[in-house]
Amino acid sequence: MSTDCLFCKIVVGEVPGDVVVESDRSLAFRDIDPQAPTHVLVVPRDHHRNLAAVAVDDPAAATDLLQTVAKVAEQEGLAEDGYRVVANTGEHGQQSVDHVHLHVIGGRQLQWPPG
Ligand code: AMP
Repeated sequence: MSTDCLFCKIVVGEVPGDVVVESDRSLAFRDIDPQAPTHVLVVPRDHHRNLAAVAVDDPAAATDLLQTVAKVAEQEGLAEDGYRVVANTGEHGQQSVDHVHLHVIGGRQLQWPPG
C-alpha cells in the first residue's frame, strides 16, 4: 500500500467506496463524479501507477483487472449494448489518481472522439 494513495485507502476501507464487484486481486467501485448512468472504477488491490506498470510487474493482476471489468459489465447490464473502458495515463492523459484504474462507462450512447 502507498500511504498517500486515495485508491489504496479505498481498497483497505480507510476511505469509503461504493463497491460493486470484488475479487482477490481487484476492487470495482462507483466513481464519485459519474460521467454516465454507470461509471465504475476498477483497480488492482496492489499499488501500480499505471496500466503498463501492472502489466509488466504483475501480469496476473492485470488479467484479473480485465476479468473484473467483464464482471462489472455483466452485473451492471452493459454487456449487450456496449460500454467504454478508459485508462487515463500520465499528465497528457489527465490521470489524476496515481493508482492504475480502468473507468467502465456506459448506460447511454457515448460519443467519439473524446476531447
Ligand atoms: P482519472 O482522472 O482518470 O485519474 O480518474 C480518477 C477518478 O477518480 C475521477 O473520475 C474521480 O471522479 C474519481 N474519484 C476521485 N475521488 C474518488 C472517491 N473518493 N471515490 C470514487 N471515485 C473517486
